[in-house]
Amino acid sequence: MAAVLPIEIRSAGPDWALRKDFARLLVVAVVLPALILCALLAWSQSASQRAAAATQLHSAAEITARDFDDFLRMHGAVASVLAARRSNETTLGDRARWTDDLRRLRDHYPAFSAMRVLDAQGRVIAADPVERAGSEPGPCFTTAQSQDAPTVSDVYRTSPNTPPLACVAAPLHANGRFAGIVEAAMRVENSGQRIAWLRMHGYEAVLVDRLGQVAYASSGLPLATMDKLDATPGGQALRALAPGDSDTGWQRVDGVLHGDEDAYAIAMPLQSGWRLLVLMPKSTLDAELFRTIATMLGLLIAVAAGVLGIAWWQMRRLSTSVHRLLVQMQRFALEHASSPISAESMPQELAPLADAMNQLSDRMADAYRATSRSLEEQRRLRSSLEQVVDAREREIAQRTAELRNVVAELDRLSRTDALTGCLNYRGFREVANQLWRDTHGKGGMLSALALDIDHFKAYNDRYGHPRGDNALKRFAGAVRSALYHREDVIVRPGGEEFIVFLPDTTLEQAVRVGERICASVLHADIAHAGSPIGMLTVSIGVATNLPEDGDDPEVMLARADAALYRAKHAGRNRVSL
Ligand code: GH3
Ligand code: MG
Ligand code: MG
Repeated sequence: MAAVLPIEIRSAGPDWALRKDFARLLVVAVVLPALILCALLAWSQSASQRAAAATQLHSAAEITARDFDDFLRMHGAVASVLAARRSNETTLGDRARWTDDLRRLRDHYPAFSAMRVLDAQGRVIAADPVERAGSEPGPCFTTAQSQDAPTVSDVYRTSPNTPPLACVAAPLHANGRFAGIVEAAMRVENSGQRIAWLRMHGYEAVLVDRLGQVAYASSGLPLATMDKLDATPGGQALRALAPGDSDTGWQRVDGVLHGDEDAYAIAMPLQSGWRLLVLMPKSTLDAELFRTIATMLGLLIAVAAGVLGIAWWQMRRLSTSVHRLLVQMQRFALEHASSPISAESMPQELAPLADAMNQLSDRMADAYRATSRSLEEQRRLRSSLEQVVDAREREIAQRTAELRNVVAELDRLSRTDALTGCLNYRGFREVANQLWRDTHGKGGMLSALALDIDHFKAYNDRYGHPRGDNALKRFAGAVRSALYHREDVIVRPGGEEFIVFLPDTTLEQAVRVGERICASVLHADIAHAGSPIGMLTVSIGVATNLPEDGDDPEVMLARADAALYRAKHAGRNRVSL
């Protein structure tokens, strides 16, 4: 089986791919709208969060202010009740009783750090504890003297090293006249505990008295107790906050917190004339907004990741199916296998393609089988054609060989005398030249005998031409029988004259051959009544090549003719040189 080679797949275009299209579609149809939606939601969420935060800040400030007012009113009322109960009593100057009352009250109201009773001149009648009594009238004395109701002082210190205080006071009366005050001092830091829960909810708070002194500032603010609020730029901005603005919402105050951090603030007036400032650090709101946006972005990313994951999974399934189709095509291309693809194993969208491929591969398989059969037929035809051609070629070769033989025979016959079988004149010329080149040119020996039948005209005249021909045949046979070497050549150039070439033969040897021929002719016993001896005889002239003969054998043959002439004249039936 042939190894499965990968089919080269050309891309459909330089910049077209389902993945890219899908990515663009995803960005345009999902990611961008989702981002816009996310931004709109974040904007809307931030607006509602800001509104909710402002409401919460306002509520927190309002509740705290009310709580603080209640706290001051209740403790003022405690001093007022005591003052009212003891007013107009004859025991107004009873120090021991005052001290007892004050101690009892302090036991019940731990917010009171010290309590005093002063007479109309501001002298201390009683105090608890005694060590914190001091001798000077406090800031409440003057205000309580002029009012008939409990008063709250501004922040003050009894000495530079003591913690800041604020006091509530109520006037004493005797016989309708001012007779002193009941005074209760509270540590301002304790009042800060009232608003401690604001800190638990991420708010900062500042308590400011009527003089603009800081009574309390939470740790997130760069303010110290008893500092003037407008001592710092942030404090000035806070002081400028109009209490009425709290109805409309908050105001942003830049650089008011530690580290120059910004905050949103609300000012809330207290019944005592103090003011409560509640601040929300901007970072708190920003963190909340950031959490909201981060949650939305996380959601968006999760959705996008989910969509991408699903898309990747779908693309993978699609490419797996396409790969199966490709493998099928490869198998068909390389192995001509046409196992059908199951449409059930394909997604619905690719099922028609698989079906079309099955049909295509079936048709191609049929076409391949038909082509294979045709090729097989062609091979068979070619094989039989080759056999026929081989046979024809063999026949032609045979015919050619035969023709060549015939031609050779014709050629031989064209050089052969038909009557005697000797070489004719044409053969004579060729043989003479050839023998001459082979022997004389190389210094070898070549002898020639010139033969002429004696009185042959008379033979013809006496016996007729046909018998003359027959005598010529017998004569040639007699000459042939006298020659012992295969190389010897008999030629009949014409008439009753013959020439015999004797290669490698000396003149003496040639003379003996000539004599042998004469004897052979005589013994052929060809009766010739016209001859003096009654038999057909022959006269022979002998010649051998000489170095001076040059290139032409005719010189030698002329000498042989001359010798023949001499043999005739010497009486015929003989050999002559
Ligand atoms: P000499 O002894 O002097 O040779 O006398 P001769 O008669 O042989 O000489 P001549 O040349 O006069 O005669 C040759 C004769 O040979 C003449 C011719 O009739 C005869 N002859 C030549 N060729 C043929 C042939 O092919 N067949 C026959 N039957 N006779 C031939
Ligand atoms: Mg002759
Ligand atoms: Mg003759």
